[in-house]
Amino acid sequence: MPYRHLVVLFYILLVSCSKNSLTYEEIPEEIFYSCADFSKVTNSNFDTDDLYAFWDIFVEDAKCSMLGSPNYDKLNTDVDIYYEFESDALFISGQVLDYGAYAATSCDDSRVRVGIAFRYWSEINIWEKLGLMYHEFGHDVLRFGHSSNPEDIMHPSSPFPNTYNGFIESKNRFFEKKFDGLRYLDCSWYEGYDQGLFTSNPMDYHICNIGHN
Ligand SMILES: [Zn+2]
Repeated sequence: MPYRHLVVLFYILLVSCSKNSLTYEEIPEEIFYSCADFSKVTNSNFDTDDLYAFWDIFVEDAKCSMLGSPNYDKLNTDVDIYYEFESDALFISGQVLDYGAYAATSCDDSRVRVGIAFRYWSEINIWEKLGLMYHEFGHDVLRFGHSSNPEDIMHPSSPFPNTYNGFIESKNRFFEKKFDGLRYLDCSWYEGYDQGLFTSNPMDYHICNIGHN
């Protein structure tokens, strides 16, 4: 091989080696796997104020994450998710709603009623919003009570993770029901109501602390 060719070959090898070492140095941060696709929530087209979009995400995620692949969209035929605002009187007095959200129909498997304090909602990021919605659906759909572990979505007052990985980690434990202090709500009273033994209001409010922030 002529000397000129050898120089070119050496140069090519040098360039490819330095390219490889560059690639090697740029190790991307580990992104936790999720069977549900969350890329849409960080897209500028995603409307973070559309509470039903969060219901759709929860339904899709439960279907691919939980044993038995439940379809909560089919089971819960009556879904109502809405904002709560301070009344004029409360606002004028300089006060704000003292809760972050609530679930109102934990014991009724066919209904979802979740109220979100709008002011609180507007102060938290997308991963905290997802944590809050999963928390309320945890009460209303899965009948979870509050957890004693501050790392969990079902903890009554600890902050929700504010990163993608943090959210994925805690929602995996949530769907796998692998968290300390997991307990279920007692719905024995509702079975009586369901059979017509009681006529009181079937709403079963679980008011969740604003201390989530
Ligand atoms: Zn709660």
